[in-house]
Amino acid sequence: MEKQKIFAGIDIGGTSLKAGLFSESMELLKRFSTPVTREANPEMSVDPLISWLRSPEVTDSFNLVSVAAGIPGIFDHEKGMLTLAANLPQWVGFPIRDYLKEKLKVPVSIGNDGNMAALGEYHAGSGRELDSMLMLMLGTGVGGAIIDKGKILEFNSFSGEIGHIIIDMHGVDCPCGRKGCLETMAAKSGLIRMLHEALEKSESNRDAYKNLSEISPLELSNLATAGDPIAMEVYRKSGQAVGIGVSNVLNILRLDGVVIGGGIAGAWNGFFKSLEDTVAKTVFSFDPEKIKIRKASLGEDAGIYGAGVAAREAAN
Ligand SMILES: [Zn+2]
Repeated sequence: MEKQKIFAGIDIGGTSLKAGLFSESMELLKRFSTPVTREANPEMSVDPLISWLRSPEVTDSFNLVSVAAGIPGIFDHEKGMLTLAANLPQWVGFPIRDYLKEKLKVPVSIGNDGNMAALGEYHAGSGRELDSMLMLMLGTGVGGAIIDKGKILEFNSFSGEIGHIIIDMHGVDCPCGRKGCLETMAAKSGLIRMLHEALEKSESNRDAYKNLSEISPLELSNLATAGDPIAMEVYRKSGQAVGIGVSNVLNILRLDGVVIGGGIAGAWNGFFKSLEDTVAKTVFSFDPEKIKIRKASLGEDAGIYGAGVAAREAAN
């Protein structure tokens, strides 16, 4: 019996390496996950994946055709390695593409993790029937990508740094060295900072915020949903900042839609109305029927789906 053709989509992050095996129609057939740590050599995470892909669990039923991986940082496509990676310093200079190619003997394609997540949502998630879209990932930082007709719009490896578009040139310092970037208002640390500011202005000492440094975006969202005025204010401001960022992009590119994912978007109810209102006010001749704004639907799996799509493309 002929074995089923499969494509492996890999998502390499700061804490784990995840992989999914996909059919030609992008059905997720099997999953794999192994830890990644800041200190560990890349081989310590990549070798268990290679062993799994060569194990009977995979090879008895499947024929691995190609592999693609998303990786966070600036990836040099000529050298096939990361040249800059804040969260994966040990991976800088590691020839990930050739290493996988040599061990697995199949075509390998590597791309930016944010781009892979965007491809995942475009082909298998909330962007499915959109022709062009902006994807924003709100989490520890703000990542993003623009897709047109199935392809990432990318001029060079610095393209798509949407987290650092300026929302307020007199705003607070961003870790990138500039002021008022979208990240300072839409990433996790930005939300916590805005929460501090709101608490300073508030009269009462708030029990709900006792362990301020521990509070997660989801907890903050739950407080906002429950009507807590301070949490609501933080989400309103964050939604507004994201709305301005989205408008800036839409006013230039007039895409069909915007898909928003990441941990902060898990706290959707808190800020979506503010985002929508801001977009409606600031996009040139806005029509909600023509520009769809949606929450991402694949969650943590967007990266493996997108890499699965990239692997299928790499095979052709
Ligand atoms: Zn910045």
